[in-house]
Amino acid sequence: MSLRLPFFLASLLSLAARALLDTLSPPACAACDAPVLRARVFCPSCAATVLRAENLPGEPLAFAAFGGALAVALRRFKYEERPDLGRPLGHLLRRLVREQAPAVDVVVPVPLHPRRLVERGYNQAALLARAAAGELGVPLAARALVRHRDTPKQAHLGRAERLVNVEQAFFVRAPRAVRGLRVLLVDDVATTGATFEACRGALLRAGAREVVAFCLARAG
Ligand SMILES: [Zn+2]
Repeated sequence: MSLRLPFFLASLLSLAARALLDTLSPPACAACDAPVLRARVFCPSCAATVLRAENLPGEPLAFAAFGGALAVALRRFKYEERPDLGRPLGHLLRRLVREQAPAVDVVVPVPLHPRRLVERGYNQAALLARAAAGELGVPLAARALVRHRDTPKQAHLGRAERLVNVEQAFFVRAPRAVRGLRVLLVDDVATTGATFEACRGALLRAGAREVVAFCLARAG
């Protein structure tokens, strides 16, 4: 006997679960917690501060410029123990994925150093990468890449220092998950692109055929 629920029953259960979730924790703006309609990420006044990014060839593709309500939401997501914000922020990445429709076979998040993962309890990039993989209908290889050097906070370093800092920080633990495949690399924020470049290098050395990079926000 199949254990799979008939489609209509599964849909009904999922609707009921969503309704229950909305009652227990009603949808709120990802930046200021004002009530919002379901499927909205920001309230109207916060949404007005989110500026779509101009994407240039060769750079990681970003949903928006870093700033305004998106910067606030990303800070809460990363530093205020709010993994639940992965869902609304994931909607923004899904939108970018729908617009760009990248031809990829697997999605890989930029990893955290294991020590930072233990401190935070979740990798924010992996939560976003899961949304992208769901939108594309391709597998998520959440642990394919590993960060073996805990790079100091990058914000105060110059570009050359950042490059040296991250160049050797990543390696591919599971080459079979990426070998011969087109990879979509996902992070929350791109600053100089140095982290993406280091990850891209590690993935290509492990045999990935092609690597494209998406992020929610581009700083600088
Ligand atoms: Zn708001």
